[in-house]
Amino acid sequence: MWTSDNLKKLISDQLGDRRFIIVSNREPYLHVLQGDEIRCQQPASGLTAALDPVMQACGGTWVAHGSGDADRMVVDEQAHVRVPPHDPKYLLRRVWLTKEEEDGYYYGFANEALWPLCHIAYTRPTFNEADWQAYVAVNRKFADAVAEEVGGQKAFIFIQDYHFTQLSRLIKARCPNTMTAQFWHIPWPNREAFRICPWGEEILDGLLGNDLLGFHLQHHAQNFMDTVDRGIEAKVDYEQLRITRGGRQTLVRPFPISVDFARSAEEARGADVAKEMQRLTQLFGLKRYEAIGLGVDRIDYTKGIPERLHAIDRFLQRHPEHAKRFVFIQVGVPSRVHIGSYQALNDRLDTLIEEINWRHRSDGWQPIVYLKEHQPRTTLLALYRLARFALVSSLHDGMNLVAKEFVAARDDEDGILILSPFTGAARELTDALLVNPYAADHLAQAIHQALTMSADERRRRMQRLRQTVREYNIYRWAGKVLSALLSFEFKDELLERLP
Ligand code: UDP
Repeated sequence: MWTSDNLKKLISDQLGDRRFIIVSNREPYLHVLQGDEIRCQQPASGLTAALDPVMQACGGTWVAHGSGDADRMVVDEQAHVRVPPHDPKYLLRRVWLTKEEEDGYYYGFANEALWPLCHIAYTRPTFNEADWQAYVAVNRKFADAVAEEVGGQKAFIFIQDYHFTQLSRLIKARCPNTMTAQFWHIPWPNREAFRICPWGEEILDGLLGNDLLGFHLQHHAQNFMDTVDRGIEAKVDYEQLRITRGGRQTLVRPFPISVDFARSAEEARGADVAKEMQRLTQLFGLKRYEAIGLGVDRIDYTKGIPERLHAIDRFLQRHPEHAKRFVFIQVGVPSRVHIGSYQALNDRLDTLIEEINWRHRSDGWQPIVYLKEHQPRTTLLALYRLARFALVSSLHDGMNLVAKEFVAARDDEDGILILSPFTGAARELTDALLVNPYAADHLAQAIHQALTMSADERRRRMQRLRQTVREYNIYRWAGKVLSALLSFEFKDELLERLP
């Protein structure tokens, strides 16, 4: 079994004197002002939640956009701050962006062009030349920051996601002694869908600057290779999962990301979470109910939140006997609110929840409790434990870590996961109730099944789900990525013997 300790040992043995640097847009810790006080927060992001334990285990430097309003107040002259704040384990290097850069690179190209291009959720991408230019300029700015951190040494750079398709080549031009791996945390669409991107060639060429390119699923890796094969001059080896362009090679591999199972399970058992469960039970009068349903998402059109709400509505119409016996708690974290489609979704959810609650309201009861703000980890773990079922209804999702966090939190071996087959997680979590979110009736039926399933069946399913997430945990993901890059295979038998 992969753990934080054996990952740490293997990394320190194999990286030798190489520097280890992670690059992502979102920072793992941000500092914000609350009144006169500076508070340190962790963002609602699957990517940072997954990588923070890896960095805590391995040390190194994490380069990311400094986006907190108090971020500049806590760094040194090199824009460095050590994190986590109470028990520092690694260095965070913040990169500062102007408002115009953030608009063009982040809101514009990354999230209005690439995000909808790669997620098939029927939101049309917007392509804008000025946004693309800003995106390339910001990739250059990050390359400068990374080069400063490398400082002429040998280094291994682990680049995250779709914000940095141009970064690997820019880094290598500045620092020849580097190896780069890039992980694409979102789906890669089929080549027909990708073809509409006006800068498709630049994007493919940029990504092939990496030594290793990782996707969650084999299917995404295959789509990428097809896109390259038909889109640009390159030799694509489908058997070896390898692409050669301009005399250099890129390995393309699937690595499904995961969570820190051991840590989540331990925290979920702890006194803080127990106290939080009591607080929430009191706050929302949860003792009245036989069962609680739960949804946890960033408010994003890929997450299928309206589809889920329609299904709850349908379920209550079909099974009015469950009225007043059940409540659905939806955590929705506002996200990318400067983009029109996200504002529209926010408004739509407010209206929809109001409508559904109004339709079924009775004797002070209403079916949906909407928590429309970021919740800390302890609260999420408490909610995971209180829920009879968690409902993940993404229309398209690279992985979906909420699904795996829910499973990791349930060491009571109870609880049902209702999961969209259009998430990466569905490939591994086959003991969930897999339901197409586009079919409201099927989703309504799954809610009914979750509320009426026997305790034995719930336990059997949860035991198998937990076995999967325990084994395919975040340390295994990191170990596999790094070992593929360093071209050696870690043997699980060998790991068993490590301290
Ligand atoms: N999350 C959080 N607070 C919230 C809601 C979500 O910290 O109020 C976290 C959640 O625990 C998970 C991440 O945000 O780690 C969401 O990751 P996921 O892969 O499900 O989706 P993404 O938002 O990355 O598309």
